[in-house]
Amino acid sequence: MSYSYRYIIVGSGFFGAVLAERIANELNQDVLVLEKRNHTGGNCHSEIEPETGIEFHTYGTHIFHTSNEKVWKYINRFTEFNSYFHQVLTTYKGRVYQMPINLETINQFYGLNLKPFEVEEFLKKEIGKENYPNPKNFEEKAISLIGRPLYEAFIRGYTMKQWNKDPRELPEFILNRLPIRSNYNESYYYSRYQGIPIDGYAKIFDRILSHPKIHIRLNTDYFAVKDQIPKDSTLVYSGPIDQFFEYKFGRLDYRTIDFEKEIVPYEDYQGTSVMNYAEETVPYTRIHEPKHLHPERVIQKKKSMIIREFSRLDDGTNPYYPINDEKNTQMVKLYREEASKLKNVYISGRLGDYKYYDMHQTIEAALNLFEEKFLG
Ligand code: UDP
Repeated sequence: MSYSYRYIIVGSGFFGAVLAERIANELNQDVLVLEKRNHTGGNCHSEIEPETGIEFHTYGTHIFHTSNEKVWKYINRFTEFNSYFHQVLTTYKGRVYQMPINLETINQFYGLNLKPFEVEEFLKKEIGKENYPNPKNFEEKAISLIGRPLYEAFIRGYTMKQWNKDPRELPEFILNRLPIRSNYNESYYYSRYQGIPIDGYAKIFDRILSHPKIHIRLNTDYFAVKDQIPKDSTLVYSGPIDQFFEYKFGRLDYRTIDFEKEIVPYEDYQGTSVMNYAEETVPYTRIHEPKHLHPERVIQKKKSMIIREFSRLDDGTNPYYPINDEKNTQMVKLYREEASKLKNVYISGRLGDYKYYDMHQTIEAALNLFEEKFLG
């Protein structure tokens, strides 16, 4: 089997797939895509559960959302989106609350009936009990925004489960993903556009990669074949950056997720697509019910599928989330410096950049890389 291609892409998640599509369509060049798994799409893959006919996202619920016109226009070339609107709830001590924390969460938690204009004053008193004018970590940042009681109830336990780290060891920016609202807005995102691909994620990747000049090899581990790749090929690598450099500065830590599926004899189990579980004593972080992602589909069966999500440290087999603590941040810097010295090798994507990218950010990074380095 020949690996003599001018362009080689490692990994067929959004980063690799978008670059392959751009190279084939814009440069009219052949491109070889190497994918370790038996399907394309990386962690964005979706499939149908055979017993119920419900489409689910194999590696956890993925909601497409963006405010970037360029990304939105690009992705719409390959799929239509339904009108799904993402809302998350969280269960704490047997009661269900809105997440992100909004006015309903605050009023329900404290048994109050505050108006939006009263929230700031109210929270100020809670925040003032501990004073963090310059928050240095995740915990201090959270307390400086909402005070300790809300933090302890809705943030601390979930974060401990998700990262298995004391929130004082985590960077504050993770919290930027979670807005705090003094109104009743229930949207998880502020993005201008959001939705679920109408016929699933797998089909998007089939379409992005459908060009005759794109050649895909599934079940192919780059590290097993790399000696056969010509030295002058241009390489786009979207796998873990530490593995690329054979862990020479040490192993970066990643969180991974285990999923436990269950078919339940109800048409609707939890009434929403994602229910978080805030308490540390509940072993899973959330329960997904993927049926709710496609309200436009009529599924007759009086059954649903739920998926419990458990977070743990990755053992090198299935990295999902980079862990941006001090140690890993320092280590990734060394790897990025090495990467910047290479000619014709581009390392990026969530695992290549070791950054907590969402799908739209990954697509944007791929489009930008193509424009900056491959055109002209
Ligand atoms: N988070 C939390 N409580 C929640 C949901 C999220 O404390 O109910 C925190 C937690 O630290 C998490 C971060 O916010 O890692 C980002 O959450 P998001 O839902 O964006 O994570 P993802 O969907 O990417 O796993």
